[in-house]
Amino acid sequence: MARLFVSDVHLHAAAPQAIEQFLDFLRTQAAAAEALYILGDLFEAWVGDDDREPANERVCRALRALSVGGVACFALHGNRDFLLGSGFCERSGCRLLSDPVIAQLDGERVLLTHGDALCTDDHSYQELRSIVREGAWQRRFLALPRAHRELLADEARAGSRRHTSRTVPYIMDTNAAAVTAAFRAARVRRMIHGHTHRPAVHDLEIDGERVQRIVLGAWYEQGSYLYCDRGIYELRALPR
Ligand code: MN
Repeated sequence: MARLFVSDVHLHAAAPQAIEQFLDFLRTQAAAAEALYILGDLFEAWVGDDDREPANERVCRALRALSVGGVACFALHGNRDFLLGSGFCERSGCRLLSDPVIAQLDGERVLLTHGDALCTDDHSYQELRSIVREGAWQRRFLALPRAHRELLADEARAGSRRHTSRTVPYIMDTNAAAVTAAFRAARVRRMIHGHTHRPAVHDLEIDGERVQRIVLGAWYEQGSYLYCDRGIYELRALPR
């Protein structure tokens, strides 16, 4: 049976087509798989596990049905939904994995990561990341009233859009040295990540070894997932 990987679904009530397509993907392709790995940014925003956005709630219920049906569901934090916690796990049936994590897939050690930590050329983003991933910052944020957190999340999204529109594209892609360092540190020959919205399979050579970096696609214009069966990996698009 297959394992499926997705990332950057960026589910948001303002994009109902993507929600319907993702729910359909869960009922069909994912229901026939043995495991689903969500490598970050499932949600466009997640202000804490008391999030009650109806669209997010539908997605949690669908994930729960999938895991109850016997499909193991795993999730990593993305840069948008890094506040997913134990409450999300209870509601969705997903197990949260730390980022990065090494998974044993068909007897092979494979590095799974959201990918934002590899974009080291984007200094202002990395500075922001180191602040918001700190436990003390997160506790202070989560102690704010939900309406206030939602407002701050909206502002952060607007700020991110301004940053993206002003930044040269290569700066927001992965840094080659960071990729090499990640391969070496994990001692793996394959890594799977998302975040950059540049779906591709990159064959590289590091220290004389052939390695592969698979980049998952975002779900803004169409669906996108990685299909893996017995060590064979295939990026697939779902036209909308
Ligand atoms: Mn991301």
